Parts: sequence; C-alpha cells; structure tokens
Amino acid sequence: MNQRIAVYPGSFDPPTMGHLDIIRRAAALYDTLYVAVLINTNKQELFSLEERVALLEQELAAFPNIKVSSFRGLLVDYCKQHEIGVIIRGLRAVSDYEYEMQIAQMNRSLSADIETVFLMTNTKYSFLSSSIVKEVVRFGGDVSDVVPPIVAQKLSEKMGG
Ligand code: ADP
Repeated sequence: MNQRIAVYPGSFDPPTMGHLDIIRRAAALYDTLYVAVLINTNKQELFSLEERVALLEQELAAFPNIKVSSFRGLLVDYCKQHEIGVIIRGLRAVSDYEYEMQIAQMNRSLSADIETVFLMTNTKYSFLSSSIVKEVVRFGGDVSDVVPPIVAQKLSEKMGG
C-alpha cells in the first residue's frame, strides 16, 4: 500500500461544493487522488453512475493528479487493486461522526494497513449534503451557490426547470 495515494469515495449524487472543497484539499496533500463513485444498488439515485462520473470528470479535468473512477463492493478491495494507502472522508457536524467511525473501524479491521484520514468541512458547507440539494431542487429552489454550474444545469434539466 502506498501512503501517497489516496481515495475519496462517495455517492456524489450529485457532487456539491462541499465535496469539491474536500477533493481540492486532498489533491494538494497526496501525489494521486482517486475520486471513486460508489455503485450502490440499494440507494435511490437521481444521477446515474455514468452521469456522476462525467460531472466529476468535467469539474476536475484541470487537476493532473486526480483520477475519477467507480467501484462496487468493498472499498478495501478497490484500495488493494490500486495500491491506495489512504481513505479520505469529510466530516461536517457531529452527526457525521458516529457513522464515519463505524465505517473507518470496519475498514481498519478488514485491512489494517489502510488509514482513514478525515478532513474537516469548510464551515460554509457544514450543512450541505447531496440529499438537501435534491430536496431544494425538487421544490424549485435555487442551489447555484452550493453546487458547481454544470451540476446546477443538469439538475434543472432533470427537474424540468
Ligand atoms: P456517502 O454515501 O458515502 O456518504 P456522500 O457523497 O454523501 O457519500 O459523501 C462522501 C463523503 O463526503 C463523506 O465522507 C461525507 O461526509 C463527505 N461530505 C459530504 N458533504 C460534505 C460537505 N458539505 N463538507 C464536507 N464533507 C462532505
């Protein structure tokens, strides 16, 4: 495992400014950052996997050390395939803490040589989540301050706005 290669995994349905803030900061800390979109068959998705990957690729095209991809199954298996030594997660309010600890401890017991590193959210985005974005858009609200323009455009296309 290489401690200079990190992965930021998530659903990114859709990517928000909170995600992008964590991605930019993590990309500055590691040689290579994989942004890995989770293929989650249980969750109700607004954007398809292909759409989420395409949005992130467009948004992150200027960063030579960021690779956007997707994964299914266990994150630690994906890490082993790509020699990833660090998992990045973002922490917002205390409400994230318990869930994130659970995942981090499970990943540690599955693979002790992969570290989870938490980056604190930018306070501007403490209460920002993909679900709240979808909720606001559903009722016709403006989310242009909290998602990148290409995401705002796709959202309004989808919602017929
Ligand atoms: P998941 O379904 O894995 O929780 P998300 O796409 O919702 O995927 O989130 C991925 C990661 O990004 C998680 O660690 C989450 O806590 C973090 N995150 C989400 N929104 C923000 C935000 N506004 N600021 C900082 N971190 C965030």
